[in-house]
Amino acid sequence: MDLGTAQDQCSLSMANTYHHRGTYTLVALAFMSLIAIVAFTATSFIGNARQHIGADYLSFAGELVRAQQGGRELRQATEHLLDHPEQEHRQQLLQTIWLLDTRRDSIRRYLTRSHLEPDSYRHIEKELDQLDDLLSRFETLTEEAMDSDSSQRSLASLATDIDNSQAFAYSELYQLVLEASAERQRQMALLNRVIIVLSLVVLLVMAGLLIAIVKIIGQKAAMQRLSLTDDLTGLDNRRALTQQAKQGLALAKRQHHPYSIALIDIDHFKLLNDRYGHPVGDQVLQQVATTLRELVRHMDHLARVGGEEFCLLMPNTDEAGARQLCERLRQGIATMIMPEAADNAQLTISIGIACCADHCSAEQFERLYSEADQALYIAKREGRNRIEVAS
Ligand code: GH3
Ligand code: MG
Ligand code: MG
Repeated sequence: MDLGTAQDQCSLSMANTYHHRGTYTLVALAFMSLIAIVAFTATSFIGNARQHIGADYLSFAGELVRAQQGGRELRQATEHLLDHPEQEHRQQLLQTIWLLDTRRDSIRRYLTRSHLEPDSYRHIEKELDQLDDLLSRFETLTEEAMDSDSSQRSLASLATDIDNSQAFAYSELYQLVLEASAERQRQMALLNRVIIVLSLVVLLVMAGLLIAIVKIIGQKAAMQRLSLTDDLTGLDNRRALTQQAKQGLALAKRQHHPYSIALIDIDHFKLLNDRYGHPVGDQVLQQVATTLRELVRHMDHLARVGGEEFCLLMPNTDEAGARQLCERLRQGIATMIMPEAADNAQLTISIGIACCADHCSAEQFERLYSEADQALYIAKREGRNRIEVAS
């Protein structure tokens, strides 16, 4: 037996199996990739959102704490100036006023950017506007404080007013920011849960779809198998045989190998049916199929092509080889152990062989088949239980 030819034939019949295995692997890989993508997207989205929202309110709260300290700094700087009415301390006080202004502006910017309800901080904005007035008055008094006693007294009480006003505005705002931050955390937790549930739903839908695809592929493969298989014996049917023969003949042409086919017909099968009944006839057909399958070589292809007719494809086999193999089959059936219900019956087969030496081609299949059929007809005519080779 030619190893190359056997391998080629084998690979032809196994190609479908590998194709489906490959598809299942692809589907499994696709599903695993989808899980990874969904998990990655969901976690990075949740992480980003949490970081962004957390940072927003954290820095706002920090700015408020710093701004609150400004009131005390203003009072201290005022006391310094009042204790030592010198130019240097006046400069320090002006510097503190500038710092307070800057922080108030920054807080206003935070406020506009925040998602706080405008109604909730309207009174604080009013307080900030009043602070603007107080601070501009304070700045004017600071300019005059070096020369006038009354300005110095007013400065001290105004610094206290500003400190109180700031303390009120900023602590109110701090409270609002804390509440908003807590609310945002609650929303975030809810959003997290929604995203996780949605991701699970997406994965479930995808899993459902992939399972459906796998089932469809499986059903398609099963349908394909059924459309190529004979129900009763499990052998290839005529359609599968034709495909196989054409591929085998094309290969034989490429490799300049001989190719033979044999038509095998059970002798007087009608009589057996009539005597033992159709169901027993079916059992006999199955037994014949099993026996033939055991006797043919690994590289051969056996098919049931009609009621009690089988066809055997013999790649890389010349006339002598085909005759030898078919003789083995004839003897094998003649000595086959019959099913119990028909154990008295004697079963024989007739075989017609047709060969192409080294000019095979896929198109010759019909001609070869018809030659084998004629040879079978002669075998029947010449008395059955015999082999004839087409001339
Ligand atoms: P010959 O030696 O000339 O081939 O005679 P034969 O009786 O075998 O041939 P014939 O063509 O006259 O009859 C074939 C019989 O095979 C007739 C039919 O009832 C039977 N047969 C065909 N298919 C089946 C099947 O699937 N099951 C059974 N039990 N019998 C079948
Ligand atoms: Mg027949
Ligand atoms: Mg027959």
